[in-house]
Amino acid sequence: MPEAETDLAQSLADLIGDAGVTSDAETLGFFAQDVMAAGIAPLAVASPASTDQMVQLVNFARQHGLALFPRGGGMSYTRAFLPETSRAIVVDFSRLAAIRAISAEDGHVTVEAGCTWAALDAALAPLGLRTRFWGPMSGGTATVGGSLSNGSVTFGSGQVGASANAVKSFEIVTGTGAVIHSGSDGTGAGQPGNRSHGPDLTGLFAHDCGALGIKTAVTLETEPRPGQVDGISFASDDFAAMCTLLREVAQRRLASEVIAMDADVARQMAGPANIWADVQALGRIGLASGNLVTAMRRMAGAALAGRRFLDRAAFTLHFVVEGRDRDDLRSRLRAIRRLAAGCAEIPNTVPLATRAQPFPDLPVTHPDGRRMLPLHGVFAWSQVAGFHADYAQWKAGMAPVLAAHHIVVADFFAVVAGVGLLYEPVFYWPDALMAYHERRTPTWLAGMPRHPDNPAARGVVFDAVAALVDLMASHRASQFQIGRLYPYAGAHEAGRGALLRAIKAAVDPDGLCNPGVLGL
Ligand SMILES: Cc1cc2nc3c(=O)[nH]c(=O)nc-3n(C[C@H](O)[C@H](O)[C@H](O)COP(=O)(O)OP(=O)(O)OC[C@H]3O[C@@H](n4cnc5c(N)ncnc54)[C@H](O)[C@@H]3O)c2cc1C
Repeated sequence: MPEAETDLAQSLADLIGDAGVTSDAETLGFFAQDVMAAGIAPLAVASPASTDQMVQLVNFARQHGLALFPRGGGMSYTRAFLPETSRAIVVDFSRLAAIRAISAEDGHVTVEAGCTWAALDAALAPLGLRTRFWGPMSGGTATVGGSLSNGSVTFGSGQVGASANAVKSFEIVTGTGAVIHSGSDGTGAGQPGNRSHGPDLTGLFAHDCGALGIKTAVTLETEPRPGQVDGISFASDDFAAMCTLLREVAQRRLASEVIAMDADVARQMAGPANIWADVQALGRIGLASGNLVTAMRRMAGAALAGRRFLDRAAFTLHFVVEGRDRDDLRSRLRAIRRLAAGCAEIPNTVPLATRAQPFPDLPVTHPDGRRMLPLHGVFAWSQVAGFHADYAQWKAGMAPVLAAHHIVVADFFAVVAGVGLLYEPVFYWPDALMAYHERRTPTWLAGMPRHPDNPAARGVVFDAVAALVDLMASHRASQFQIGRLYPYAGAHEAGRGALLRAIKAAVDPDGLCNPGVLGL
């Protein structure tokens, strides 16, 4: 590192302590990569340990003309935190991860931005509580601050929808070094409990990808954990029938999580049966059911079913259903079965396994070592069929090229209550791994095969992703984790675009907060 840059790293260490600054080349490289790509290596990774240190870091960045790229768990895949300049500091939140206060009586928890969803849930579980949105599947690594800046779905999304809906207040350090509390805690009222105390400033900062400031803490609504949980699954050959069922369940808020997948690909993904992994998964299903009789019934059911159901239909649909008590649970299951009259019920292994271990140590590749890259569009129910038809046509046209490069596309779906259907094609292709993938490969996959560098296939995948982003936009899709992949600032009506830029200029006049993200 040139001397002036070494001085910068040293001055930073003087400010927030040696333990808060890393500048070895390997770490800098890793922190400048995500699942998708590599950005420019920053000058340093800074890990502030308090809101005050975050303020000092912003002031330091202003003084030295540096840009700040906040990175939570680094589990997004839209180049959302990748530096676009070498005069950059990546902000890491691993030392700002405490749970500050839990108020069971008022129904909220205040947690620092770097806390993972798994750690938050583990702290709330003994109190019989959880947050209303309680994490993405990547929540073993993904942070509360990262997910709420990105925009996330999954656990609780069948009821509450997108992650922002569960937030009461953010604590934010803006690009001027000001500390803002976005809920009623930012006024004379003092408590974070009322998000709707005047205009919704919390909503303004939710899902902003860190463009409008750096979140140091979040207050989320809590609720009692459900008394009863079960899963129910169906198979369908008919895309339209599948969507109708998903919509009917979503609009009645009958399930807490709803996912579906293209069974063709699920067959390939399942691969040869791995008895040991299956036994472990079944053990967890048993434990999760909480009582021995139910555990044995569930384990026997899941074991008998195995993976055979995958040989049957075009799509499989999976619902995690919760009830206040057994009657409530049964009533919801009955209602879903009635709505699913045209679909075949199949073993509920997927929803039960999902709940048995919600935050597993997930790989960021296919388990067979192939690279993976998901993209998604969120569609209003009335838009889904049109996109599906055009996408099917696109896939048919691309089939020879994809096959020539051994590229596989899997389709996944998730319900976002109150919004519509999240349609997620995932690309898999043989390619060399980056430092990011190597470091994030779980130990249980240490012996996974490696593939040689494959720029040709990678080029086809990246072009295909760009084409699908356009196709989704033409069908009026919206997105979470907009990052640097999906169109945003440039796609606004004129007045709204001007407002957005004025807000950015007010909270970040030097443009140091994640410059370039959201097109800002
Ligand atoms: C295997 C796998 C499974 C996944 N499952 C899901 C899923 O179920 N649902 C889902 O929605 N997504 C999922 N994702 C995508 C991703 O993990 C989530 O969107 C997750 O919420 C990102 O959180 P993070 O802490 O890793 O954020 P990061 O990726 O680190 O950052 C995301 C964005 O937030 C900004 N940011 C981070 N921290 C802060 C902060 N404190 N203040 C301001 N800005 C900040 C970053 O600059 C970036 O723009 C998955 C990804 C993988 C690889």
